[in-house]
Amino acid sequence: MTSTTTKPAPPHQWNLVASIPFIGWHFLLPLVVLFPFKWEYVAVVFVTYYLRMFGITAGYHRYFSHRAFKTSRVFQFILAFLAQMGVQKGVLWWAANHRHHHRYSDMENDIHSPARKGFWWSHMAWILVKDYEETNLSAIKDFAKYPELVWLNKYFLVPPLVGLAVVYAIGGLPWAFYAGVVSTVLVWHGTFSINSLTHIFGSRRYLTTDNSRNSFILALITCGEGWHNNHHFHQNTANQGWFWWEVDFTFYALKVLSWFGVVSDLRLPSEQTKLCYLKYTDAQRAQLEAEAKFNAWRTPPQRKPSVTPDELPAMGIGMAQVMIKR
Ligand SMILES: [Zn+2]
Ligand SMILES: [Zn+2]
Repeated sequence: MTSTTTKPAPPHQWNLVASIPFIGWHFLLPLVVLFPFKWEYVAVVFVTYYLRMFGITAGYHRYFSHRAFKTSRVFQFILAFLAQMGVQKGVLWWAANHRHHHRYSDMENDIHSPARKGFWWSHMAWILVKDYEETNLSAIKDFAKYPELVWLNKYFLVPPLVGLAVVYAIGGLPWAFYAGVVSTVLVWHGTFSINSLTHIFGSRRYLTTDNSRNSFILALITCGEGWHNNHHFHQNTANQGWFWWEVDFTFYALKVLSWFGVVSDLRLPSEQTKLCYLKYTDAQRAQLEAEAKFNAWRTPPQRKPSVTPDELPAMGIGMAQVMIKR
């Protein structure tokens, strides 16, 4: 008699080189008592937080992961540099992993799905293990052809060190502390909340093949990334807030940059795409309501693997598995 057994996945190995500085940075926060409150420090945190968050959302996410707009090779490098100041490894590593997230969102292979492995895994633990250390260049061939981006991806600590040197030169140790420690920790958790919280809390307007949700609060914190259900429904748009009340600071900044010709061809969703939820049947509305309930995220959504990406929009279902055009 023969039996087939599937081997359990090997346990994750902690990446101490990444984990020790990351966790250690949090333990530096109490040193804030050494630099008593000044409005000037609030301004330093605010400016360095939102500048880097813009780099992450416009650069890492909307440009390098989704090609949601066009720009020059020079500004492309500036966006990558600014994004990497957020200390989240190299631009090619970030975008390759994000493309993987869209391809398998909330399925077994999704590397940071809370539905698969819980909140803390999706929020930050996946970054602290050795499994995803390498950059999957085959997933980001379109940008891996630029040597300057490959260099930046390899020496990913250069931008944050340059940034730290600049703030230290201007404001000394207090500025370096507030920008380098306080603001950086906030940038980390602001960004990570999109991988974790927007797949757990919030409303769902569109039927997608994942647990993505929309959240006004998270949109404020992340310059517009909180409209994650919109984004999973149609991932290649330069705006993620699709209605006037859906605040999206990244898009407003991109719009201004487009007036000066710095960026162009901002991709926008059609009215038909934006309003398709109005045509949902009662059964589809009931499904959306059930999926948006507290704790519903613990159950991975039902998939229909036989459905091709071309069929998904016609069904009113988001294009989570549509391959990114190269
Ligand atoms: Zn997502
Ligand atoms: Zn995305």
